[in-house]
Order: sequence, then C-alpha cells, then structure tokens
Amino acid sequence: RQLFDPYRVKRDFPILQQQVHGKPLVWLDNAATTQKPQAVIDRLAHFYEYENSNIHRAAHALAARSTDAYEAAREKARRFLRAPSSKDIIFVRGATEGINLVAQAWGRRNVREGDEIVVSWLEHHANIVPWQQLCAEKGARLRVAPVDDRGELILEEYEKLLNPSTRIVAMTQVSNALGTVTPVREITAMAHRHGARVLIDGAQSVPHKAVDVQEIDCDFFVFSGHKVFGPTGIGVVYGKDEVLKDMPPWQGGGNMIADVTFEKTIFQGPPERFEAGTGNIADAVGLGAALDYVESIGMEAIARYEHDLLLYATEKMLTVPGLTFIGTAPEKASVLSFVLQGHEPLDVGKALDREGIAVRAGHHCAQPILRRFGLEATVRPSLAFYNTCADVDALVSALRRLQNGRSSGI
Ligand code: PMP
Repeated sequence: RQLFDPYRVKRDFPILQQQVHGKPLVWLDNAATTQKPQAVIDRLAHFYEYENSNIHRAAHALAARSTDAYEAAREKARRFLRAPSSKDIIFVRGATEGINLVAQAWGRRNVREGDEIVVSWLEHHANIVPWQQLCAEKGARLRVAPVDDRGELILEEYEKLLNPSTRIVAMTQVSNALGTVTPVREITAMAHRHGARVLIDGAQSVPHKAVDVQEIDCDFFVFSGHKVFGPTGIGVVYGKDEVLKDMPPWQGGGNMIADVTFEKTIFQGPPERFEAGTGNIADAVGLGAALDYVESIGMEAIARYEHDLLLYATEKMLTVPGLTFIGTAPEKASVLSFVLQGHEPLDVGKALDREGIAVRAGHHCAQPILRRFGLEATVRPSLAFYNTCADVDALVSALRRLQNGRSSGI
C-alpha cells in the first residue's frame, strides 16, 4: 500500500537537501520544530511581494488582498481542525500564547478560590506554568493526573481527581517528551460529566494525525504553526462558540474594539476580540499554505506512514546495546525518547550532530515527566512524514558506532 513517496516529499523541503559537518542532514528534531516546504516559503514571499498591507479591507486594493489572505488562512485552520465556524479560530503566536490566553481571559472570569484545575504529569511546561500562575492569583488548586511506568495516563486515577470544584482540565494530546497519545475523547467526556471545561494542547498531535475538535468535543484546542510545517510566531486557539462568546478580552488595543470613548469601550465579538493590535498576518497566511500542503498528502496517509516508521525505528533502535526507551505506551506518535548506557544524553546529541543527525537532548521543557522516570534528560529523536527508513538506519548506525567507541571525535 503506497501512501506517498517519502523520498519524493522530502525533496519539497529545500533545507533538508544540505550537508551538515560534511554529512547529509538527517532532521530528527521535529518535536522541537518542523521544516518548511517550498510551498510555504513561496507563499510568504508572494505575500510580501504582492499583498502586504494591514488588514483593513476597505482601505485600498492591497488591504483587501491581505485581509482576504488572512481570513482564508483562518478558514483553512477551521477546516484542518474540523471546527464548525471560522469565528471559533483565534490567531495567536503559538501554543504557549494560546494556553496563556485561555488561562488568563477565561480563567480570570471562571476560576475562584477553592476551585481546582487538573493537568497531567505528561504536560509541557507551557501547559503547567500558566495554570500554576492562575492558581496562585486565584487561590485555586492545581491537581496532577498520574501516569504509569509506560507513560500512559491512568484513567481511573484521572477520574478520581474530578469533582464539582474542577473548573478546567488541560491535557496534551501527544506528549512531547515520551510520545504518548492520550485518550482525549474519553477524558473530555469524563470532565464534562463533572461540569469542567477542557483544553487540549495539540502542539504535538496535529503534525501527525487528523484532528476533529467536534468529535473530541473539547472546549479549547491549541497548536503552533511551526510544528506543523508552517512559520514560527503563529498559532491557533480553537474555542467553542458558546465559551468564546462569554470570554472577556485578554489584551486591549486596536482591531479588538467596536467603539471606544474614554468612558467605555465596546468590544468586537470573537475572534477579533482576542486579536488586539496588528497580528502576524504574513505567517498566518504561511500557516494556511502549510495546512494546504499536509492536506494535499492527507493526514490519514501521514498517520499511517508514521505509524509504520515509528514501529520500524523502535525495533531497529532496540538492537543498539544499552539503549532504553523512556515512554513505552502502546499508542505513541513521532517521539523516540531514550537513554544510552554509559553516555550522557547531551554527549549522544553532540555525537549524532557530528554525523549530520539532528536530535534534541535535554529535558524537553517537560521536567516533571522526566523526573517521574528518575531522569533529568533524554535523547529525543522525533519523526515527521518526510523522514525515511534511511534516516532511521543512519541514526541506528551512528548509535552503534558510538557504543563501539568508533564515533567521529569520541
Ligand atoms: N505543548 C507541547 C506539547 C509542546 O511540545 C510545545 C513545544 N515544545 C508547546 C506546548 C509550546 O509550543 P510553542 O513553544 O510553539 O509555543
């Protein structure tokens, strides 16, 4: 079953054609950020060459073009998440800003002293710290859902944390440190039964699988453009219409108002109410091009291909002496976190870099989950659809050479 040719799609990414330290670049740091296809680079250049303007549609021809391009990108994001309306789509700088927007705008109105907020041990710092700050401000309590030794959420324990004081459950759909895929639909239903709202952090899921926010039934969903083959500095918050309508603005300024006097300001409705000031117009348009690109390949095809590649990589890497995976949940996406006996993670990262192989080594902005496994750092290769079996083979050979003491410079 030929889904698409990864060797051909790789050619769509100019940055992947280069050599690093005299070796062909093998990009396995996709959980940190993804590379951009030519279509995205061209779309950004086209915007600045022909369309650049602030988005005040009526002002003149270029303003109409940029407004249309920006709103078309919003519609592409809506379609990508299967949201009911493009009014449910707010452009932000990234997942971090999206979570802060919800914690501050929604949280300040809806969380009170004695209330509870539930996160999980799997969360990225971006889905911990904004909630901690909100709890400190409001006198609310942060509760943390545990994981088992494979890095899977323990659903029975999760349910025990939910009660009438729970205001919101914030959880990642894919762990950036372990790759665990979480049962977001089940947990959302559980949270709703207890009257809590749900935010899903989709930063690590949308590059790897099709997402349908209506099927999940979450109240908020956030992701970053740069992790899904789009530009940096742009991301998306989806919010349910009924929730966004009741949510006060976060920042004040231009674009988000309907009328201002010194006595009183009337705010726009969603999404403009949450987009104060001149937004990142060009990169929103670039994100639209990235979403078109992945959808032209097909998220289902990408998910199936990556599933097979992850299995291939897991089996091959297990043949490296002294390699232990951290995170062995039955359902994983992209991430292959590991430690190597006799070598510090950072040294493994540096040795791989000398072979042209880019991976992340460190705590991955997810210190609690690494400490859950008694670690401060792991080596973390992470796959995307442009990676091939040859990339995995290069990684495995380099790790074997390192274990045999034959790596360049070791
Ligand atoms: N959540 C998860 C699960 C992530 O992996 C990341 C990025 N590593 C973020 C949130 C934050 O994304 P950004 O830095 O693009 O805002």
